[in-house]
Amino acid sequence: MKIFCVGRNYSEHAKELNNELPSDPVIFLKPKSALLLPNTPFYYPQFTNELHYEAELVLHISKNGKYIDEAQASRYYDGITVGIDFTARDVQTELKKKSLPWEKAKAWDNSAVLGTWQQLQKAASKNSIEFSLKLNGEMVQKGNSNEMIFSFNRVIADISQYFALNIGDLIYTGTPSGVGECVVGDVLSGYLENDKVFEIEIK
Ligand code: ZN
Repeated sequence: MKIFCVGRNYSEHAKELNNELPSDPVIFLKPKSALLLPNTPFYYPQFTNELHYEAELVLHISKNGKYIDEAQASRYYDGITVGIDFTARDVQTELKKKSLPWEKAKAWDNSAVLGTWQQLQKAASKNSIEFSLKLNGEMVQKGNSNEMIFSFNRVIADISQYFALNIGDLIYTGTPSGVGECVVGDVLSGYLENDKVFEIEIK
């Protein structure tokens, strides 16, 4: 199982981190060990002093493929949920300054939170799926798939030019603006449309 993540897929978020808007999807990976398994506590990592949440729509790949045509890409995923791409922002800032790879900031153990899968058919339109993140009960991030710079289908087509997609792979499709810090004791809850799909406490 592979975990793909899209960087800078919402223009307001790219701006808040002073990043240029990409002309092609920015893709990075997390290893399988990054996935926070259900009923596993999440501990604040000791290597960062600036842990950021990034709430994202996550797709579940349901069909193997390579060199997928954008027009056919919607056949390759069947489930959707909300997850968190946890980021050690201080570590990332240092790595970015030196143009070094991001793994130490983004690919560490338990850095990928995953909500409960929802059938994609439930969503009124794949092109307009709302999601949000609450921090201690207050909404801090709100996004809609229609604000993405690169659509689900474009992202799948792009990834599959470089990497084979396999059943069970995950795609974190990027975070909207509003990313921010969280500390020990904070509770984060993710919503897909009106359904709560996860709740975790930082320990
Ligand atoms: Zn992200």
